[in-house]
Amino acid sequence: MVRLDQPLSRPQTQKENRADWLERLITISRSLSSTLNLPPLLDRIVTAAQELTQTEFCSILLIDHRSGQLYFKAATNLPGVHSIVVPMESIAGSVVQTGKPLIVPDTSKDARFYNKVDEQTHITTRSILAVPLIARDEVIGVLEAINKDDGGDFTAEDIELLTLLGDQAAVAVQNAILFQQSDLIAEIVHEMRTPLTAIISYADLLQRPGVTSAQCCQFAGIIQHEADRISGIASSFLDLARLESGRAHLTKGRVDPSTVIYMAVNVLTPQADDKQISLLVDVPDALPLVTGDAQRLHQVMLNLVGNAIKYCQAGDSVTIKAESEQDRLTISVADTGPGIPADALPHIFERFYRVPGTESKASGAGLGLIITQKIIEAHGGEIAVSSEEGHGATFTFTLPVESQ
Ligand code: ADP
Repeated sequence: MVRLDQPLSRPQTQKENRADWLERLITISRSLSSTLNLPPLLDRIVTAAQELTQTEFCSILLIDHRSGQLYFKAATNLPGVHSIVVPMESIAGSVVQTGKPLIVPDTSKDARFYNKVDEQTHITTRSILAVPLIARDEVIGVLEAINKDDGGDFTAEDIELLTLLGDQAAVAVQNAILFQQSDLIAEIVHEMRTPLTAIISYADLLQRPGVTSAQCCQFAGIIQHEADRISGIASSFLDLARLESGRAHLTKGRVDPSTVIYMAVNVLTPQADDKQISLLVDVPDALPLVTGDAQRLHQVMLNLVGNAIKYCQAGDSVTIKAESEQDRLTISVADTGPGIPADALPHIFERFYRVPGTESKASGAGLGLIITQKIIEAHGGEIAVSSEEGHGATFTFTLPVESQ
């Protein structure tokens, strides 16, 4: 088995150095193609990059095609760096735009240096070597090495090694992303099998001799319900696949969050009334605008408030709150319903996940929350849930606010 955790001792002469490092690079490259699981793959890449360039930190940034933004995805020795968005005007952004490696020997003298990462992680970035990750002629991200261990400058050899590693890494990363998508297809086929089996069985029963007209109606109703379910799964699945692959086109504009909230409340009030659930809105008069896709944000509100109504019972209430603080808008949807058991909470945003026992209470595909999460992330926001079983659930998401 290939071991990545055994660093090579520092070579003695320049010649040995190059040969040894290239050999090491081949070993690392082979190990990269042996996993299709994206998070550990990214960790391996940054660990290898740090070893090859002998630097204090290495990080990998990937372009999110939904938003077109560059995100930190993994880093060595830099807790908290994950998910930081880096603007295209940054050093990494210029590597994306030129598709060429870049050395910045002194970040304090380069206006492109984006110091928010240093602020958040409490490190000091003095120098950077950044190479593009190119797969199938497309730049998919950037691999960065930060601060040589010996305090010196990056060399031509560092560029060569990091570029060679970046080439291998890009292919492995793209394969892992494609694999995630094929995994999704396997899951959808699996999920559709249950309603399909019901349809086949009831269609068969319908044709049996002696079926009464009341039974015919009942079986036809079940067939209709299961067919609707397949149709719902198919459209949610397509939506998710588009969001995950970056093919979902977000039409971004200036959006008033209050309008989005009240529109969703208007749509869902009849359902809430039918179930005798009260919908309460606690939104200040003037909320700052956000940059986003109004339709998609409407979908987020429909999913969260719709779920709250779906899982609550008569007498329960659902409260939608919004508040803004500095550059963030926070919206929460809190209900007094059954809540979510502690052991289910970590899985709640997984594809097709439904809390055990949900099936008998309410219909659904288990895709609403992951779609909601993807939409919020595509807007540069985050979503979280807090709940105690028997005491309701609160979903809270943030969105960046437009600078005034
Ligand atoms: P669906 O509602 O179609 O099952 P979601 O992805 O929207 O799928 O939700 C996943 C699961 O999370 C649901 O099946 C349900 O078990 C649980 N859930 C979501 N929202 C709530 C809520 N407000 N209260 C209790 N459980 C919830």
